[in-house]
Amino acid sequence: MKFNTKTIHGGQEHDKAYGAVMPPIYQTSTYAQSTPGGHKGYEYSRSQNPTRHALEKALASIENGNYGLAFGSGLAAIDAVIKLLNPGDEVISTNDLYGGSYRLFTQIFERFGIVFHFVEMENAKNIESYINTNTKLIWVETPTNPMMNIIDVKAVAEMAQKHQILLAVDNTFATPYLQQPLDIGADIVMHSATKYLGGHSDVVMGALIVKDKDLAEKLYFIQNASGAVCGPQDSFLVLRGIKTLHIRMQRHCENGRAVAEYLKAHPKIENVYWPGFESHPNHDIAKAQMKDFGGMVSFTTKGNNYKEAIKIVENLKIFTLAESLGGVESLAGHPASMTHASIPKEKREQTGIVDSLIRLSVGIEDIEDLIADLKQAIG
Ligand SMILES: *Cc1c(COP(=O)(O)O)cnc(C)c1O
Repeated sequence: MKFNTKTIHGGQEHDKAYGAVMPPIYQTSTYAQSTPGGHKGYEYSRSQNPTRHALEKALASIENGNYGLAFGSGLAAIDAVIKLLNPGDEVISTNDLYGGSYRLFTQIFERFGIVFHFVEMENAKNIESYINTNTKLIWVETPTNPMMNIIDVKAVAEMAQKHQILLAVDNTFATPYLQQPLDIGADIVMHSATKYLGGHSDVVMGALIVKDKDLAEKLYFIQNASGAVCGPQDSFLVLRGIKTLHIRMQRHCENGRAVAEYLKAHPKIENVYWPGFESHPNHDIAKAQMKDFGGMVSFTTKGNNYKEAIKIVENLKIFTLAESLGGVESLAGHPASMTHASIPKEKREQTGIVDSLIRLSVGIEDIEDLIADLKQAIG
């Protein structure tokens, strides 16, 4: 089955009771047993739920994995991965990381004796000097947020395999439409399904997908034991979202390209961060690793004025000023005052998050309207 067919049919079967084409929302916490232990595979909805199960099979299918696990949020999914580790174990992570992942690693798991190294991975060789016998996990995010850096997953996977270290890839920004990390050596793919997989800004959810049975069993044990599962209604919504992932992503990519090119030619714009430009430092890797370049575009204005950037995001009418990304509607964010406000100015500027940086999640509206909106807002 090819990808566009998988988004609609992958891992799916029609409802056994009445032939419903979409799996019913099994809004139940428990299941009747005929005799103790006499059940149909479902005992209690933290452990198993048919709607969540249908979603988990779809997730496995679109990422070319064998097992999918759905969680109450992206961070709950990451939390489950780190719980594979023991005190003293070490993790090597991308330095330009989703802020919530960084907070979870440093403010929760460091207290439990897990050691994190944040490494600039655009040159995969930088990882090697951090590897020792305690290294158990490499955590990669690509493209990164909000600077759109690209990490060579294949190169990192070779290193991970050589040293028998697990490799997890946060595939939230790219989605399996653009890249399938399990096929190029990753052991775990993680998603904030809140973003492109759900795709309609109406649900918060996380996911893990793996190929290996042993690893799947360990993660399932944690999912059930820690209990950060998602509900059946949300499972239904994300399953429905996945069915249009390919056509949404195609349009996100087309519109993302048009917005990036418009901004690049604009006299008031200083830098545009989008991996599709040949001038992007890791354009060649992006081109080899990804099918297209996605709908996320960041930019800075000439003069790097904080107030001017705020004015631009306030002036936007079709782009909504909001956190999050990956929905059908276009969103704009100002990292220095929003998602990255808690990071000291000097530290955030080291990774490029300057005062005028604006991040766009380009939606699937008509491109003429999006460009006109940017035009009136930037002036
Ligand atoms: C949003 C996001 C997360 C966290 O997911 P939640 O669903 O908000 O918990 C993790 N990684 C990336 C790249 C994200 O964009």
